[in-house]
Amino acid sequence: MIYKDDPSAIAGFLEDTSNLKSGRTPGVFFPESVEEVADLLRNAVSDGRRYTIAGNGTGTTGGRIPFGDYVISMQRLDRIGEVEEVEGGLASIRVQAGALLQDLQTKAASAGWFYPPDPTEKTCFIGSTVANNSSGSRSYRYGPTRAHVRSILVALPQGDILDIPRGRYLADTDGLFTLDLPVAGKLSFMRPEYDMPETSKHNAGYWSASGMDLIDLFIGSEGTLGIILEAELQLRPAPEKVIACLAFFMSEGELLNFVEEARKGSGGVAPRAIELFDIRSLDFLRQSYARIPDGTAGAIYFEEESTESGEERCLEAWLELMDRCGAPADQSWAALDNDGLAGLREFRHRLPVLVNEWLSRQAESKVSTDMALPDSRFRELFKLYRNACDREGFTYIIFGHIGNAHLHLNILPRNRAEFDRAKALYRQLVSEVLAMGGTLSAEHGIGKLKSEYLVQMYGPKGISEMVRVKKAFDPYLVLNIGNLIPESFYESQT
Ligand SMILES: Cc1cc2nc3c(=O)[nH]c(=O)nc-3n(C[C@H](O)[C@H](O)[C@H](O)COP(=O)(O)OP(=O)(O)OC[C@H]3O[C@@H](n4cnc5c(N)ncnc54)[C@H](O)[C@@H]3O)c2cc1C
Repeated sequence: MIYKDDPSAIAGFLEDTSNLKSGRTPGVFFPESVEEVADLLRNAVSDGRRYTIAGNGTGTTGGRIPFGDYVISMQRLDRIGEVEEVEGGLASIRVQAGALLQDLQTKAASAGWFYPPDPTEKTCFIGSTVANNSSGSRSYRYGPTRAHVRSILVALPQGDILDIPRGRYLADTDGLFTLDLPVAGKLSFMRPEYDMPETSKHNAGYWSASGMDLIDLFIGSEGTLGIILEAELQLRPAPEKVIACLAFFMSEGELLNFVEEARKGSGGVAPRAIELFDIRSLDFLRQSYARIPDGTAGAIYFEEESTESGEERCLEAWLELMDRCGAPADQSWAALDNDGLAGLREFRHRLPVLVNEWLSRQAESKVSTDMALPDSRFRELFKLYRNACDREGFTYIIFGHIGNAHLHLNILPRNRAEFDRAKALYRQLVSEVLAMGGTLSAEHGIGKLKSEYLVQMYGPKGISEMVRVKKAFDPYLVLNIGNLIPESFYESQT
């Protein structure tokens, strides 16, 4: 196994996209087999080592940044298996943790299949998307990564390798899991007792539900319970046609009405994505897309799957709805083929790129939210963010998954005083969203940056219940310490 400790070779492992600067590590291991990963963990206590798992570093929460621990990079475990047809007209594919999402999607597409999860950033590793339950615009229809994982192979913190197909390990009626493992021996622990929020996207803390499946505890656990080595993912037949459109609105009220009607399926529309670009996001994008109509109040991007024969009817339904909601077709950008679709997706991807370029010219980093409310409350979330930022006079943008009442607010401070005020506002918004029944994170996870706010979400009791689960798998605390669970909670609970 390759090991690197030359500072210039491992500097990249001290960062992700969070702007956390305090990472440090003695060195990085690059295992090339699942056994090598398990060996590292099996010997962690006798070697006196703790490990942080590294995916490809596109995470936004500092999850892969080590604070003094060794790093295990998953990049050499990157094999993608062959597509196999399974029951129900679906297919599956086995993928190692270090394979890129974009490579998996290309392979599935070339065989005529479709992997729905589509985080905007496609250069992430599959193992990370499972560990973080990543999602994207198509999650409006298809749900997050969790909904597409049939089975995982995991290296547990004491060195066991456990195969977890969906349906094999279920909590009993009291919520108790029992496992008998070669190295760790008998493990028995209760699932967390907290209730999860009623949002359609939620990625903050361990998943917990009555009669739950062990696989769902690992998905979204951000590497704190084990290392995802491989996953068997479910594929769907590729849709015959996809229509997509960017509809520009002249008033915010009409835009929000359109979202409401699209969510209801008004006139027979059946979107798989409903995404917002607020007026300030469009101002950013004008640098690259001068033809964005003047005077627009915002835009909604939507996609729907169709067939050759149904495409015309599908288009008519959308045009009728757009017309009714004040988004004239001649001012909208539609895509009816793959090139057009790729062009609109590039438009979406361009926004974070332009924001990052802007930030690179500033002294301060952005303050951003990833919170969601129950679906029907999308207007409240938008107005909460918009009104608060206008009151403060911030430079900001609001964009993202409005169909799931999940919006990203990026505050872009121009100086330290604004940054401090933005952080204070973030804290206030967290309190308000949680009080409204929302979630702290709908897709990016908690990592190291947001663990203090997780205490606000679940209370000390909820975090202690997570510690109980963590310690059942990782009694010597060797894996991804500092992620999700604030470290002080390990000390207070033995
Ligand atoms: C421009 C941009 C757009 C984005 N858009 C989206 C989006 O639309 N939706 C979304 O959900 N996310 C999005 N993200 C966030 C990010 O891409 C995802 O969180 C992704 O899953 C991170 O993958 P990575 O390989 O880069 O992981 P890393 O950043 O390297 O690691 C992320 C976390 O996963 C853990 N981890 C990595 N591999 C494993 C493993 N094999 N087993 C256990 N734990 C592991 C790490 O320890 C760390 O805690 C975006 C990021 C950027 C920069």
